[in-house]
Amino acid sequence: MSLEAQILSRIRADGPISLASYMSECLLHPTLGYYATRDPFGQAGDFTTAPEISQIFGELIGLSLAQAWLDQGCPAPFTLAELGPGRGTLMADLMRATRAVPGFHAAARIALIEQSPVLRKVQAETLRPHEPTWHDSVQSLPNRPLFAVANEFFDALPIRQFVRSGPHWRERRVGAQENRLVLGLTDPAPVPALEHRLADTSDGDIVEYCPAIPTLVGTLSQRIAGQGGAALIVDYGDWRSLGDTLQALRAHRSTDILGTPGDADLSAHVDFEAIATVAREAGCAHSRLSTQGVFLERLGITARAQRLASAATGKARETIIAAHRRLTHPAEMGNLFKTLGLYPETAAPPPGLEP
Ligand code: SAH
Repeated sequence: MSLEAQILSRIRADGPISLASYMSECLLHPTLGYYATRDPFGQAGDFTTAPEISQIFGELIGLSLAQAWLDQGCPAPFTLAELGPGRGTLMADLMRATRAVPGFHAAARIALIEQSPVLRKVQAETLRPHEPTWHDSVQSLPNRPLFAVANEFFDALPIRQFVRSGPHWRERRVGAQENRLVLGLTDPAPVPALEHRLADTSDGDIVEYCPAIPTLVGTLSQRIAGQGGAALIVDYGDWRSLGDTLQALRAHRSTDILGTPGDADLSAHVDFEAIATVAREAGCAHSRLSTQGVFLERLGITARAQRLASAATGKARETIIAAHRRLTHPAEMGNLFKTLGLYPETAAPPPGLEP
């Protein structure tokens, strides 16, 4: 039975489901989900991410995390974690760039948080020499200093959507009409988690809420606050979510979110304020939100790109120049993508970020 047929029969039996349940089925269903069944990256896939655009991205993230590790007194051993590592490209570039940092590789225990069996296999090939271990979630990470990176991970986490209605909210849910999936609205009800949004929204506004963030970011932050470490979170989104940002991508084009369940990537803008708030409550400091362009410039992307370009010729050289532009230019990924750092209150933020 197709994933669409399964979702339709579940809705007929139990009633409409939240967008978060729908996203979760579409992305992570163990046999028919989007990430469970394919490697979605690159030209031939549905989308391209920063580490797949240029090796410089993972290199600079690596140097920032390694400097944070040095600044905190080189704790050993420590967990070097990546959330949603995709093909493992970022971690491979990070490890290559940090080879010369004394003691870093010897102390690092690489932990990959990944639910897709297909991508776990790709990661195992890419990262074999580094002997990674895999985890379904951050809860099972060992209790030791934690240096972590997440690129385009949070945008894949399921979100719920609510439409403001007077002092209450109506949830957008996925229902069934004849043989089709359709969007509908619940009756208005109070939503305690959105209490703080009554001040900056008005009737009809849509607000998104990611139910996984409290436990996920709470666990990460407790480790970092208690044991030392840092997390770099890079994703598209902004300080506060407003409006419907849920999108479906297929073959680099936007498509209907209900049209092809399990065959299109679904993602939503990241609400960085929600991450920062949970981190603070768990005793972690967080940086100011930086644009990806500024973050990479502060880490020296221009000098690094110039060095690589001067050693290359022809097409390879053009590719390096184009990648630099794509990652940093405000009209490309430079402004849409943001970086947030989490770190202990007693430490400085990782290089590239401001307190
Ligand atoms: N960071 C990579 C891949 C981004 S795509 C890059 O920049 O190229 C999102 C990644 O997160 C994929 O590896 C996907 O399988 C994984 N993922 C999505 N939802 C997840 C979840 N709830 N738990 C663990 N991994 C998840």
